[in-house]
Amino acid sequence: MTSSPINSDSCTEAVQKLWDCMNPCTLCPRNCKVNRSKDQIGFCGIGDMPVISSVGPHFGEESVLVGRGGSGTIFFAGCNLGCIFCQNFDISHQRYGNQVTIDELSQAILGLQNYGCCNINFVTPTHVAPAIAAAIESACKKGLTLPTVYNTGGYDSVDTLELLNGFIDIYMPDMKYVDSDVAKELSNAPDYPQINFAAVKEMHRQVGDLKLKDGVATRGLLIRHLVLPENLAGSFEIIDFLAEEISPKTTINVMDQYRPCYKASSHPKINRRPTREEIKSARKYAIEKGLNVLS
Ligand code: SF4
Repeated sequence: MTSSPINSDSCTEAVQKLWDCMNPCTLCPRNCKVNRSKDQIGFCGIGDMPVISSVGPHFGEESVLVGRGGSGTIFFAGCNLGCIFCQNFDISHQRYGNQVTIDELSQAILGLQNYGCCNINFVTPTHVAPAIAAAIESACKKGLTLPTVYNTGGYDSVDTLELLNGFIDIYMPDMKYVDSDVAKELSNAPDYPQINFAAVKEMHRQVGDLKLKDGVATRGLLIRHLVLPENLAGSFEIIDFLAEEISPKTTINVMDQYRPCYKASSHPKINRRPTREEIKSARKYAIEKGLNVLS
């Protein structure tokens, strides 16, 4: 067991185990094995304490997450993926933000609840999962009742997700690719497809299909899939996987907002937006397969 900023007398075993996964770090599939509590930095670029770039109600998320009060987003700096088309590259790759303690993160969570948000939405959480679990635990003791949302790029290890069981109400993973060469070229993660499929299975095992109350999500799995030009994302195979191996009632947002950001404009395969026809055919296929497609 390593020394950590969490209170090991009062935290659950799962939080302590998550913390131990950072020294050496095997928290995500990169398995960098750096000692993050000793200021060693791995691929994600962040030490053992999270760096937050912004906190506040967000009205641009899926309507089932927004409700009346907005989704209470907490954006974390750093990322365990290396997407060359990242739309938040200043946060993910340049890591703009302020380092916070567990106590400050817990206060931010409660502040969003007091503000009237309808959930707590952890954006890019994978590499700071131990701090998130510790802060949720602390916030629950002080009255947190809102659902928690794990808003992830989908490159998550099953072992870490198992330790998060019970902390997270809504898993919202990306499903980015089905082809290893594409995943390597665009996100520096050749094993993304098999890691992502296994992660989505574990997420669904924990929380099931998405459930709503008065039109707002309370628990379950919500998939985000960004359509890329030339079907580079493998939209049809992802939809088949969801319908056949997860649940025919899976909720999916087939997203049309890809645009060439960051380094993508110099990449010949992804230097354009997807066409209207490319988006339409992916959505149509998901509907034909019976999935719950958000509009
Ligand atoms: S969380 Fe960061 S340091 Fe740990 S294995 Fe993943 S990328 Fe590496």
